[in-house]
Amino acid sequence: MSELKPCPFCGGEAKLHHVGNMHTKKRVSVVECQTFGCFGLARVGALKHDFEWMDEKVIDKWNTRNNEAFKLELIEAIEGAVDSTIWGYDGDCNVMDNIKEAIDEVIK
Ligand SMILES: [Zn+2]
Repeated sequence: MSELKPCPFCGGEAKLHHVGNMHTKKRVSVVECQTFGCFGLARVGALKHDFEWMDEKVIDKWNTRNNEAFKLELIEAIEGAVDSTIWGYDGDCNVMDNIKEAIDEVIK
């Protein structure tokens, strides 16, 4: 099994754990950053495969996570939120709410 790289967001330690087991309908391999408050997370779930298979996939997903792409995604979301606030202005200036919502969409 490949080794886990540090968290791409904060550089913290990452840990792999499992949700469910081979007898439950839902099973997921999860890699999570151990830093309190950090949202670094990767999940892979599959019914037709075992944990070994999901572990490989989730580690790969975690290790190839690209900070730059994530940043661009965030910037795009914020731009979209600002745009829709300006062009959809209805007298209620809630640009920060729209930005927070857009960021939540990206990091969920
Ligand atoms: Zn982190």
